[in-house]
Amino acid sequence: MLKITIWNEFLHERQNPVVTAIYPDGIHKALEKNLGPYFAPQEATFTTATLDQPEHGLSEERLANTEVLLWWGHLAHDQVSDAIVERVQQRVLNGMGLIVLHSGHASKIFRRLMGTGCMLRWREAAELERLWVVKPGHPITDGLAADYFEIPAAEMYGEHFDIPDPDELIFISWFQGGEVFRSGCTFHRGKGKIFYFRPGHETYPIYHQREVLLVLANAIRWAKPCGSNYTHDARHVPQPLNPWN
Ligand code: ZN
Repeated sequence: MLKITIWNEFLHERQNPVVTAIYPDGIHKALEKNLGPYFAPQEATFTTATLDQPEHGLSEERLANTEVLLWWGHLAHDQVSDAIVERVQQRVLNGMGLIVLHSGHASKIFRRLMGTGCMLRWREAAELERLWVVKPGHPITDGLAADYFEIPAAEMYGEHFDIPDPDELIFISWFQGGEVFRSGCTFHRGKGKIFYFRPGHETYPIYHQREVLLVLANAIRWAKPCGSNYTHDARHVPQPLNPWN
């Protein structure tokens, strides 16, 4: 059973009636409910965590029981404690998958894992966004019906996006106003896989859209931990595999 935790700062939904109407129980609860049908009954289990909970809902125990963490934040990046950021980073290095959503580009955890500013251009004008698939055949694009999909009203994010060159570029967005943006990017840090996915501005119903949910479900499966459990003990000097005397 794949263990997924959805983290949300959960502020816009309690402050702005426009956002409350779209996400009455919060973006985290909407994602939990809307992503559920994309998994088989015994395939995945979801929990949520929010900024205002003790340890932001990300205790050692919770993170130890999380295989993929989704992160949505915008207003309160600075209120996330450095100790929790450190804890999440270590868990990623040890193999937990991390999916950073939309304005999470400026979160402490994403900036720390990238090592760059992670800023971009933006404009909030309900523009058409067309996300082009630039890596067909990648598991994150599985099931998409065409070379692109569209979000009818989106906040524009434009280049330059101050990230390291992604390990894989999955989507490039074009916006009605003319800008383009690397809107689906993968990274590897330690044993952990990271996917940045741009869609998700709080005043538009983007986390109710089928293609967006399909990509997120694919990304969760892609990001889950896999591979060797071996951890090198740096204090241990290895014996040669082929002794020379
Ligand atoms: Zn936004």
